[in-house]
Amino acid sequence: MASSKNNTIKLKFDSARKYAPAPESRSSAKINARYDLFINGKFEKPVSKKYFGTISPSSEEKLSEVADANAADVDKAVKAARQAYDRYWKKLSGAERGKYIYRIARMIQERARELAIIESLNGGKPIRESRDFDVPTAANHFFYYAGWADKLEYAFPNRQAQPLGVAGQIIPWNFPLLMAAWKIAPALATGNTVVLKPAETTPLTALKLAEIIQEADIPPGVVNIITGAGATGAALVNHPGIDKIAFTGSTQVGKIIQNAIAGTSKKATLELGGKAANIIFDDAPLDQAVEGVINGIFFNQGHVCCAGSRLYVQESVFKQVVQKLKDRLETMIVGDPLDKNTDIGAINSKEQLNTINKYIKIGIKEGAEMYQSSAELPHKGFWCRPTLFTNVAQSNRIAQEEIFGPVLAIQSFRTDDEVIEKANNSPYGLSSGVWTDKGSKIFNLTTKLRSGVVWANTFNKFDPTSPFGGYKESGYGREGGLHGLNAYVKLI
Ligand code: ADP
Repeated sequence: MASSKNNTIKLKFDSARKYAPAPESRSSAKINARYDLFINGKFEKPVSKKYFGTISPSSEEKLSEVADANAADVDKAVKAARQAYDRYWKKLSGAERGKYIYRIARMIQERARELAIIESLNGGKPIRESRDFDVPTAANHFFYYAGWADKLEYAFPNRQAQPLGVAGQIIPWNFPLLMAAWKIAPALATGNTVVLKPAETTPLTALKLAEIIQEADIPPGVVNIITGAGATGAALVNHPGIDKIAFTGSTQVGKIIQNAIAGTSKKATLELGGKAANIIFDDAPLDQAVEGVINGIFFNQGHVCCAGSRLYVQESVFKQVVQKLKDRLETMIVGDPLDKNTDIGAINSKEQLNTINKYIKIGIKEGAEMYQSSAELPHKGFWCRPTLFTNVAQSNRIAQEEIFGPVLAIQSFRTDDEVIEKANNSPYGLSSGVWTDKGSKIFNLTTKLRSGVVWANTFNKFDPTSPFGGYKESGYGREGGLHGLNAYVKLI
């Protein structure tokens, strides 16, 4: 029996390996050798005179170099945004703002292929994801919020929604274009102007978005996009001309930002880390649940704040589910992000790979049992085999701390109350998932799980109309839907 199972795995694995390479051509992705800062509608050389290289994490090849904005550059960008706000944008009708935002959405669609290729090259994620998820969802966010721009009186009945002013927006490297869309679209729809800073490892699609914004004739200064690392982000947060900070990133930096703006009139939304629990009951459709768990943790190499990195399986189906997961892991193809067959791409940076490897060692040292797929890894670039741990204790660091990689910690449970307690026993509270055939169980859990999102019989589903955000150390404020508009207005 065991050997026939092994044969099945091997067959599946071999057939996966036999796919002929199907790489997406890079020819339609135009990447300049160097990018300046996008300020006041133009690409301007940085006052700092400094640039830094940006690479492809799958090959370590240098793709381009981008400006390293210092405090003087941040000041220029914030002043441009303020001027555009005062002189033009806040006075424009909602219908006119909407037209501009629709234009951005359409141009993202027109250039979808190029954006997807660059996203995969610069970030390491599989082209299937950037092509089928990141880029279309980014366009959808612009379409969705364009629709609200002239309907704010319906969004906030009997109230008048006024923009906040200039928004400083800082985003991470896991969904570079999509996070830019999440931030820019609702800000513009409500009449704010923005200065956006992408993460230092993934600046290229944000700079492509800057080109789109320029081509779309968005009035100069309404959107400014500046590149740099943590110091640039800190200069933006601390600039007195900023009215609102929208941040997505680590809990550690979120706390620094919260301290920095304490006592100022700056408003903030912080979308921080997570340690999502996926819960499989014994009455769940197990194959679907296993697919959902695989999608939940291995999607985008686990570089997802809402990744389902903890799995709780009801005791009676525990062995079965773990075996199904192991079998499925063996079929997953790790490799070239531009290959359409690839399931798991490159880890975003060497630092992140070091962090993931550190946690894998911690898991083993804590006594958990590790299982990794036998996928061959490319020689260059940053890679991690999909990994799962069993024999995990609730207090283990791999069950408590955010790893941000393709590493799943699995535990068993017996009763509903027990799993609710275990799932909530986390400093985070961004998302969770429940797999069961019973609607009553879903309702019981959704009301008791302390997380901003609870997915039922699915995972990692996103839609511009749905709010997203966390509890506890996962931050505060919501993005998406009507709630996302609320974060950019004062109501009078
Ligand atoms: P991650 O761990 O996901 O890389 P970080 O929180 O370090 O997340 O980074 C998210 C974003 O925050 C990036 O754009 C980064 O440059 C920026 N950042 C890092 N440090 C600071 C800081 N002290 N103030 C403002 N932004 C920062």
